[in-house]
Amino acid sequence: MDKKTHAFQAEVKQILHLVTHSLYSNKEIFLRELVSNASDACDKLRFEALDKPALFEDAPNLEVRVSFDAEKKTLTIRDNGVGMSAEEAIAHLGTIAKSGTREFMAALEGEKKKDANLIGQFGVGFYSGYIVADRITVESRRAGLAAEEGVRWVSEGTGEFEVETITRAERGTDVILHLREGEEEFLSAWKLKSIIGKYSDHISLPILMRSQKWDEEKKAQVDTDEWETVNKAAALWTRPKSDITDAQYQDFYKQISYDQEAPLAYTHNRVEGRTEYTQLLYVPAKAPFDLWNRDKRGGVKLYVKRVFIMDDAEALMPVYLRFVKGVIDSADLPLNVSRELLQESRDVKAIREGCTKRVLSMLEDVAENQKDKYAEFWKQFGAVLKEGIGEDFANRERLAKLYRFASTHTDEGVSFEDYKQRMKEGQEAIYVITADSLAAAKASPQLEIFRKKGIEVMLLTDRVDEWMLTHLYEYEGHPLTSVAKGAVDLGKLQDEEEKKAADAAAEAAKPLIERLKKTLEARAKDVRATTRLVDSPACIVVEEGDMSGHLARLLKQAGQSAPATKPILEVNPEHALVKKLDSAEGSERFDDLAQVLFDQAVLAEGGQLEDPAGYVRRVNLLLAG
Ligand code: ADP
Repeated sequence: MDKKTHAFQAEVKQILHLVTHSLYSNKEIFLRELVSNASDACDKLRFEALDKPALFEDAPNLEVRVSFDAEKKTLTIRDNGVGMSAEEAIAHLGTIAKSGTREFMAALEGEKKKDANLIGQFGVGFYSGYIVADRITVESRRAGLAAEEGVRWVSEGTGEFEVETITRAERGTDVILHLREGEEEFLSAWKLKSIIGKYSDHISLPILMRSQKWDEEKKAQVDTDEWETVNKAAALWTRPKSDITDAQYQDFYKQISYDQEAPLAYTHNRVEGRTEYTQLLYVPAKAPFDLWNRDKRGGVKLYVKRVFIMDDAEALMPVYLRFVKGVIDSADLPLNVSRELLQESRDVKAIREGCTKRVLSMLEDVAENQKDKYAEFWKQFGAVLKEGIGEDFANRERLAKLYRFASTHTDEGVSFEDYKQRMKEGQEAIYVITADSLAAAKASPQLEIFRKKGIEVMLLTDRVDEWMLTHLYEYEGHPLTSVAKGAVDLGKLQDEEEKKAADAAAEAAKPLIERLKKTLEARAKDVRATTRLVDSPACIVVEEGDMSGHLARLLKQAGQSAPATKPILEVNPEHALVKKLDSAEGSERFDDLAQVLFDQAVLAEGGQLEDPAGYVRRVNLLLAG
């Protein structure tokens, strides 16, 4: 192929612009990215060679070599991995296949510091070379192709790149960085070694650099022809726990997760039994930007007998634990295991169950012994953990114990166990209410009788809570009962006298109730007297089994249709407004008052009026009259 010029995809241009103009801190991560690409290329070759050993040619020892030329001001990262054909170089180095580019740019724009570290999270690693280079040359030959089918790719990282065919005996890739003016610090063996030690120590292939010796004439260290391995190349998880320090565990986490912060907790075990494997799992301290993407693959890497098999092995973790990062190394799975096979494997199922239990134990431990830390975890990941209740039947009780809510007792951090401790004599149900916000939940008229009696109510205001309630209907034998559904039955919590008074009030209100039923026929399914209200004249409830108003609104917001169910209006016969209504019987004002009563109940529940102008007109009339 003659030399040909190609244009970068528009997104690449944007990324390159950002990379070269705005990343100032942590510049050195470019080396981690390029070494990581080189190591991935070796993993890919090893994987392809499982079926076609000939791909190894005569060089089965996979490795990465880092070298520099102080005079030419170049830095070269060489691997003997899978390499690229000309077509692959054009496709992979000229476009971005991955989603997340836009998020990456948005994240960069928002950042004041412009931390280059962000790059790793978004999988656009190759371009990070342009942080320090004003030209990059890539020379490559794909494994299995002839020497004449090599490729040279050159670009200054602006609008375009050039590609031509070359002859290249060695399989694999050289990435040659022509360093920018001012980036000479990377032309130092000591500097490069320290960066590799910091970011790439765990890479399980040898990373080689030329060893150096002192040159008396030049009075400086100079390269020799000898290559030495500069990383430990020891897979951390294979070492015994007692040999690993906390700092090493943390460093490893940072290397695999690209997270700057220390993890919240980790667990490292060798599991023996029907299936043998090692797990090293971390719970991060902060949620990633794409936590809400349920399609995102997990953060767990799969190894088989220390050989890297795949990233993001989602079959190893349930979806609701997608924030967990780490490594699983199996002794039993075949090396050529595919994603499809993983889904079906019984060993994988056993691993997933084992790992899930481990993560739950880890969280239980934090919840028990480091309450503040757990509160922080709950803020970051609580809503995701709630997905588990519907997904993981086997662990539902353990999950429910880990959940935390707001309640009428405390604004956050209430567990079902705390609630149980505070239950009143004779109380059987755990009372809950769902609402759009904490303020709305607290202001619900349905809470009045519970407040008066000092009974705690859980205030559920997360979007997933409604969904969660469809799976979590009891906790240790105590039914979860919505105070906004069905009639209140305080059962043993109400004494005889109160019951009698309530019955008498309901009896007295009967004619009024009948009249209201007729007047509000079009809007309310039923009207009844209630004891649940203390300060409010009326409230809206739905029938047991009907969809709550809050859920119906959520569905509508999400563009889904919700069944149109009419609510029930409950009135407080003791309230002055209701008494006034009673005395307005037969007059013209009765209708207006009845409509206003209903509208107010809808508003108090967080709903919207179908005819707000009508409501305003009626209230004005009443105010004026
Ligand atoms: P990512 O590595 O996250 O896919 P990059 O921008 O770093 O994104 O690299 C883009 C693609 O270029 C890689 O997916 C790979 O196909 C190819 N590539 C990069 N470096 C190498 C290399 N050293 N050997 C072979 N292919 C490479």
